[in-house]
Amino acid sequence: MKYRDLVRPGVLSLPVYEPGRPIEDVAREFGLDPNGVLKLASNENALGPSPKAVDAAAQAMRHAHLYPDGGAIALREKLAAVRGLKPEQIFVGTGSNEVMVLLAQALVGPGDEVIFGEYAFIVYKLAALLFGGKPVSVPMPNLAHDLDAMADAVTDRTKLIFLPSPNNPTGTVTDPDDLKAFIRGLPEHVVFCFDEAYAEYLDHPADLRPLIAEGHKVFCTRTFSKIYGLASLRVGYGYGDPELIQLLNQVRQPFNSTGIGQAAALAALDDHEFVTRSRESNRAGLKQLSEGFKRLGLGCPPSQANFLLMEVADSRKVFELLEARGIIVRPLHGYGLSQYLRVTVGTEAENHRLLEALEDILAGDQAVSLKGEKERR
Ligand SMILES: *Cc1c(COP(=O)(O)O)cnc(C)c1O
Repeated sequence: MKYRDLVRPGVLSLPVYEPGRPIEDVAREFGLDPNGVLKLASNENALGPSPKAVDAAAQAMRHAHLYPDGGAIALREKLAAVRGLKPEQIFVGTGSNEVMVLLAQALVGPGDEVIFGEYAFIVYKLAALLFGGKPVSVPMPNLAHDLDAMADAVTDRTKLIFLPSPNNPTGTVTDPDDLKAFIRGLPEHVVFCFDEAYAEYLDHPADLRPLIAEGHKVFCTRTFSKIYGLASLRVGYGYGDPELIQLLNQVRQPFNSTGIGQAAALAALDDHEFVTRSRESNRAGLKQLSEGFKRLGLGCPPSQANFLLMEVADSRKVFELLEARGIIVRPLHGYGLSQYLRVTVGTEAENHRLLEALEDILAGDQAVSLKGEKERR
């Protein structure tokens, strides 16, 4: 008998999360110097980690032999003060991915329906299937969430709705007023999870704290992986009603976030200069890249996150040609968006390098077949 025969139903059909290829991997395959490989594939901060967080993490290493504070008390108190919440409304996890999976673990059982957009972050589908839930994927015309269609998808069996704004991988933002009206219309048995991984990049992110206070079943997640530049330390958090937080505490591991990560996150929250610089650098990079793509005749839907879609007819080919030049971007076949590549905003010099490589690729014989459909007419 094989392990495959012993596994729980559903495990074999779980979708596979395809991460951006590691730098070392690509360097080895193409015989490149790893220091010269540019990774624009995982929406990481182009400016690196928050310097204050790096110092705090180094200090915290001195206590690496001690178990961390499983309740993340200091970090939760700080987050509460910074975000205008109560510590008992906050749940810290190993990245916001873990927080979302724990939410599903606490709420979703066999047959429960979990709603999300067809081009939304793949982790929502994974979270639904892991616990025997039924994923309900709602079409996203123009790459944006369709709140009316999502409302229509709600049934007596709906347990959870996931929605990110900006969405990964499309970069689209949902209007805050429309979102609030949508949530106010949800029945009592539905929990709404708002994924705010890229909220810090927006000028006016939706603020759902008033709805939580009004008693709506809203749970929001944030991360230290993106604008704070701490993806490798795996720290994220969720906030909502204290009753839900208590239930999440019952399903988590006793030490589900590291002391190093907590210390770094705590310091990162005080690194306002770094956050401002990251936001400004990103804004300039979005402009540089979108203008560059258009100049090259490549379609580029608007984005407000730290990444953009670039429309190319043969995304596999362009992906390979970039990779051979030491530039890693993200193909989106897994999302059914094979006409696009997702590109993380880099520094000005990195963006320039990508645009030059693209120009070079598109100057070849294959140029016409590599460009997007619209541009060929
Ligand atoms: C990157 C990202 C996250 C963050 O995941 P972590 O586990 O916190 O690193 C969450 N949601 C979306 C949509 C993302 O793109």
